[in-house]
Amino acid sequence: MGNLANPEIVQIDTDILIIGGGMAACGAAYEARAWAPEGMRILLVDKAALARSGAVAMGLSAINVYLGDEDPADYARMVANDLMGITRDDLTYDLGRHVDDSVHLFEEWGLPIWKQPGDEGKSLREGGQPVRSGRWQIMIHGESYKPIVAEAARKALGEENIQEHVQIVKLLLDANHDNRICGAIGLSARTHTVFVYTAKAVLLAAGGASNIFRPRALGEGTGRTWYPPWSAGSTYAMAAEVGAELTMMENRFVPTRFKDGYGPVGAWFLHYQAKATNCRGNLYMTTNQHLLDDYPPYGQSEVPATCLRNHLMLHEMRDGRGPIYIRTDTALQARARLHEEQVGQQRAQALNAELEAHAWEDFLGMCTPQAGVWAGENIEPEKSPSELMPTEPYLLGSHAGCCGLWVSGPADIAPPEWQWGYRSMTTVEGLFSAGDGVGASGHKFSSGSHAEGRIAGKAMVKYCLDHADFTPTPQQSPAQCVDAVYAPVRVYLENKGYATSDAVNPHWIRPDMLLKRLQKIMDEYVGGVSTQYCVNDQMMRTAIDKLQLLKEDARRVRAKDLHELMRAWETTHRILVGEAHARHMLYRKETRYPGFYYNMDHNFIDEHNWKCFVNSKIDPTTGEWRCFQKAHQDLIPKSL
Ligand SMILES: Cc1cc2nc3c(=O)[nH]c(=O)nc-3n(C[C@H](O)[C@H](O)[C@H](O)COP(=O)(O)OP(=O)(O)OC[C@H]3O[C@@H](n4cnc5c(N)ncnc54)[C@H](O)[C@@H]3O)c2cc1C
Repeated sequence: MGNLANPEIVQIDTDILIIGGGMAACGAAYEARAWAPEGMRILLVDKAALARSGAVAMGLSAINVYLGDEDPADYARMVANDLMGITRDDLTYDLGRHVDDSVHLFEEWGLPIWKQPGDEGKSLREGGQPVRSGRWQIMIHGESYKPIVAEAARKALGEENIQEHVQIVKLLLDANHDNRICGAIGLSARTHTVFVYTAKAVLLAAGGASNIFRPRALGEGTGRTWYPPWSAGSTYAMAAEVGAELTMMENRFVPTRFKDGYGPVGAWFLHYQAKATNCRGNLYMTTNQHLLDDYPPYGQSEVPATCLRNHLMLHEMRDGRGPIYIRTDTALQARARLHEEQVGQQRAQALNAELEAHAWEDFLGMCTPQAGVWAGENIEPEKSPSELMPTEPYLLGSHAGCCGLWVSGPADIAPPEWQWGYRSMTTVEGLFSAGDGVGASGHKFSSGSHAEGRIAGKAMVKYCLDHADFTPTPQQSPAQCVDAVYAPVRVYLENKGYATSDAVNPHWIRPDMLLKRLQKIMDEYVGGVSTQYCVNDQMMRTAIDKLQLLKEDARRVRAKDLHELMRAWETTHRILVGEAHARHMLYRKETRYPGFYYNMDHNFIDEHNWKCFVNSKIDPTTGEWRCFQKAHQDLIPKSL
C-alpha cells in the first residue's frame, strides 16, 4: 500500500485505453468491444463513478439529436448556422447519419422515450413516433439515462476492464516514434497509487471545460455551474501538451439559463412555447430583430444562431431593461386554457396538474438546483415568471460550442486535407477523441457524443489491428511518472513546517487559490461576466502575460491530500485551456460570436478574411505555442 510520501506504482498494459466514462467513452467501449477480436484488451478509466459520471450525471429530459425522417445534410446546415458558419460538414454529416442508431440502442437498453398517442408500445426502431420538443429533439424520461448507457458499456467490457476514481493527468509519447501516443498516467482518488498505462491506441474523451472563468455563483453558491464542475478541460489540455492540434478554441458557449439555478430553457422555449421578455414585458426577440441583420446570413435563418439570441438579450441588459424573464406563467396558463377548451374545466384540472408536475420534473430530473431555487424563492412557475441570465463562458465541443481537437474525418466525405487514415484520430498518431473532445463540429449532445464515441471505438480497433507489432515504450520511466504526478505532494511535504498556518506559506500556492487567480484573469481580461463579455487585443495580451506568471506559480501548487492532488491537476489543465482560449481569441481579428464575446478592436464579422478555422499547436519539446489559419470549405451547400 502506498502512502502520501511513497505512492504505489501499478503498471497496466492494454491495447485500447479509453479515458473518461461519459457518453462518448461509453459509446466507444460498446462499439470497440463489438469489433475487437478476442484477446484485444480494452480498458476504460474514469475519474468518477461510471454510472453517474460526466455531463449527463443528473439525467436529462430530452435527447437533443434524433433525426428520424430528417436529412443529415439539414442537420449539418443547422449546426453550421448555429456556429456562425465555421464547422466541418464531414464531421457533422457523419454524425447525423449515425446518431439515430445510438438512440435506438438507448431505448432497447431501457430508456423510456415519450411517444405520440397510439405509438406507446412501438419502439423507435419499429417506427414509433417520438414526442418532439423541437426539430431535432425528442422527450425522454431520462433520470436514469446515464446509468442505462453506462451499464451497456460495463457489460460490453466486463467489470474487470473498468477502473473508476482514477484521474488521468498526462498522456505519454512513445520513445521510439515521433508524434505517437503510447499511454497515459493517472492517480487514484482513493488510495496513494499512480497508474502507468501503456496502450497502442488511446481515446481521450474526458469532457469539456467549466470553471475556467469566474462563475456568477460565488460564496454560498460556489460550485454551482452550468456545465459540470468536474469538467476540467483535461481533454484539451492533455492533448495539447503532447502536440495535438486544437481547433476553434476561441469559440465558447455562454448559455442563457434560469438565473442562479442554471435550469435548462430548451423544454420551456420549445415544448411549452414560453416567451422571454424584458422588465417592461416587451418581447425583445421581436423588438430587437433588426439587430440580427448586422450578421447575415447567420442572423436571418429561421432559428438565428444561439450567440445572436444572446446578443439581443445583452442589448436589453446593457440598455438597462433587465431583468429578463422567461414567462413560465403565461406559457402554462395558455396551456391550461387550451386544455379547458379541449376537454372541459373538470378534466382540464387533472391535465393542468400533470403539466405543472412535468415542469417541476424537468428540473428535478436533470437540474435539481433549479427546483431548489424555485422552492427557496417561493416561485410557482404557473403563477410567476423566472429570471434568465447569460452564464459565465464554458469551453466545449459537443453542446452549442465547437472548440476541441482537430480530427480525421470520414473517408467517403472528408477532403484529403481533413483525413489522415483513421476516423476520429487527432494529429497525434494513435490518439483519438470524441464528444466534447472533437472541435469544429458541435451540437452532438448526449446521443451524438455516444455515436461519435462508437465511430472512434471502431476506428481504434482497426488502428490496433493495423499496428499489431507496435510495442508502446513511454519516454518516461515509471519513477519519472510518479515524480510528475506527485510533484504537488512533494511541494507540500518539503515545506509544510515553514509556517504555523497550513493555509498560507510563501513556498506554495493552494489549488483553490490557483483556480481563483485563473478565474479572475479570465473574467477580467478575456471577456467574462464582469466586462459583459467585452475584450480587446491589449486585454488579451495582458491575460496571456499573467497566465505565464500563473503557470510559474502552478509549479509550486501544493497537495496535502488526494483531494488537493486532484484539484491541483484539474487546475493545471484549466490554466492551459484558458491560455488556449485567450491565444485563439487574440489571433482571430474579428468578433465571430457576438453575444458570446465581443472583441471591441474588431467588433464585426469579417467573412472575407476570417471564415476559416483557427488551429493551434504546442511544440511538446519547446512548449512554444503557434496559432494558424486552416481553410474552411462548405461540403454541403448552405443557401438552401
Ligand atoms: C446542464 C447540461 C444539460 C444538457 N442537456 C442536454 C439535453 O437536454 N440533451 C442532450 O442530448 N444533451 C444535453 N447535454 C449535453 C450532453 O450531456 C453532452 O453533450 C455529453 O454528455 C458529452 O459527452 P462526453 O462524453 O464528451 O463528456 P461527458 O459526458 O461529460 O464525460 C466526460 C467523462 O470524462 C471523465 N473525466 C474527466 N476528466 C477525466 C480525467 N482526467 N481522467 C479520467 N476521466 C476523466 C468524467 O468523469 C466523465 O466520465 C447537456 C449537458 C449539460 C451539462
